[in-house]
Amino acid sequence: MIPITKPYLPNREKLNQYIDGIYERNWLTNNGPLVQELTQRLESYLGIENLLLVSNGTLALQVAYRALGITNSDQSERLEAITTPFTFIATASSLKWEGVDPIFSDIDANTWCLDPDQIEEKITSNTKAIVPVHVFGNACDVEAIDTIAQKHNLKVIYDAAHAFGVTFKDKSLLSYGDAATLSFHATKIFHSIEGGAIVFKHEKDLERAKKVINFGIVGPEIDSLGINAKMNEFQAAMGLCVLDELESSLTSRAEVWNTYAKALGSHYQLQKIHPEVQYNYAYFPVVFDTDEQATQVLNVLKENDIIARRYFYPSLDTVDYFQIKEHQPISKSIASRILCLPIYNTLSLPEVYNIVNKIHNNTLKE
Ligand SMILES: *Cc1c(COP(=O)(O)O)cnc(C)c1O
Repeated sequence: MIPITKPYLPNREKLNQYIDGIYERNWLTNNGPLVQELTQRLESYLGIENLLLVSNGTLALQVAYRALGITNSDQSERLEAITTPFTFIATASSLKWEGVDPIFSDIDANTWCLDPDQIEEKITSNTKAIVPVHVFGNACDVEAIDTIAQKHNLKVIYDAAHAFGVTFKDKSLLSYGDAATLSFHATKIFHSIEGGAIVFKHEKDLERAKKVINFGIVGPEIDSLGINAKMNEFQAAMGLCVLDELESSLTSRAEVWNTYAKALGSHYQLQKIHPEVQYNYAYFPVVFDTDEQATQVLNVLKENDIIARRYFYPSLDTVDYFQIKEHQPISKSIASRILCLPIYNTLSLPEVYNIVNKIHNNTLKE
């Protein structure tokens, strides 16, 4: 079977050495030495500062909102944040969880990121933040979004779960916004089994977030409302091992990605990656002509034990519990026609050609 992705498993001996160290120290969590080491190594690998490791990418979003004051836990007023419907559910559900209403704004038909020209009309006196997503690692129009945020005094939190290692204009994409959040879930290109991080623009926000992830406790005092979102030492050990082997794993993924792109790019719609993005080859999404065609490809691949995935689907403006009346047509259209194809570092090129042939045989007219 060819799965949609395979979690990367690093060298076992090296992982064992880290685990031996954890046993010797008997320090399992609460900002242990491996969490500290991973923090420093990620800051230097990514070329950023003010990185905080957390237990997963969803809590990374929630803690980022809290640290930046975007929360309505006391339900004192209606708060809104403008976000995209073309993303994983956690981007919007994490807002709802904080009592903030996600207001969906449509995406650009080519980049699949928030269309900056549609953001301003959604801003009301309740709007506190913009939560854009660097979809599949493509860069949002960070400059336009920054201009809008400054003009209306809004915070910007990028969901950068797909954008690990991506640079924009030779600078980490994570350096844009008041905060950018990462997911280190097992299926992401860099992972710590479960895990995540927040990169803050300002150190004072990092300091506030450090309290939030540890129950709001400072020394013996309970300083403020917090939660438990700490990364543990076993997660950090996995992260350190995966980071050591990341470059070679990314090289193989790039080869898979380029092979797909060459074979499929002239027949189907691919994402338009910003020319100044240095990409990470995390996903290979393809948009077909119709919903029926995408479904047919999905089924034919499945009959051949090849697992593609409708992702992102559905467009989040159609999720019942958000109770959205006004739908976003471009997001709905792309979501109904998109498939992500298998991509992982050990996927062989003959396997890629096989997948491509199955797709062509079922979609291309003579
Ligand atoms: C994976 C993902 C998340 C959630 O991350 P977890 O670590 O699984 O909680 C959030 N947003 C996007 C866009 C993601 O792909």
